[in-house]
Amino acid sequence: MLSKILSKEDCSKCKICCEFDDNDLWENPIIYDDCTESVLKINPSQEFTQTELNGNKYKVLKLKKENNIYPCAMLDREKGCMLGSENKPFDCKIWPLRVMKKNGKTVIALSPVCPVVSEKPIDEIMSVAHELSDIIFSQASLHPEMIKDYIDGYKVLIEK
Ligand code: SF4
Repeated sequence: MLSKILSKEDCSKCKICCEFDDNDLWENPIIYDDCTESVLKINPSQEFTQTELNGNKYKVLKLKKENNIYPCAMLDREKGCMLGSENKPFDCKIWPLRVMKKNGKTVIALSPVCPVVSEKPIDEIMSVAHELSDIIFSQASLHPEMIKDYIDGYKVLIEK
């Protein structure tokens, strides 16, 4: 969804958003039913973990820790995401945009972690965020579990 500012080639060289440590395990993407089917087609024995944030329950992939890192179970280190751009979780489709709650408002914020988008001019990032804002806010209304608590360092782009 962010192909205007984030190319497949850039993503395939990086993959930073597909590996987590203890501090950013909250970024392990939410898996909804349509995505569950795609995951199980790739790995029928993949397990899931039920989790909860601010009273909202949701499901994520069960991950295995390797050298203090949890690689996403759908990550192929050579080819990238095995789910492909159409079937990957919504959280991954909008990376590095995140929906957060700040001072009681729902906001679209920019993760400082993506090394590619961080180098783009802010007006280009804002333009893409505005184009996607209706889709992102409506998904967040349907699935409040995707609204994370605000973290310092995330740049607020749009407030609802
Ligand atoms: S589902 Fe795909 S894009 Fe999302 S974190 Fe896992 S490997 Fe990366």
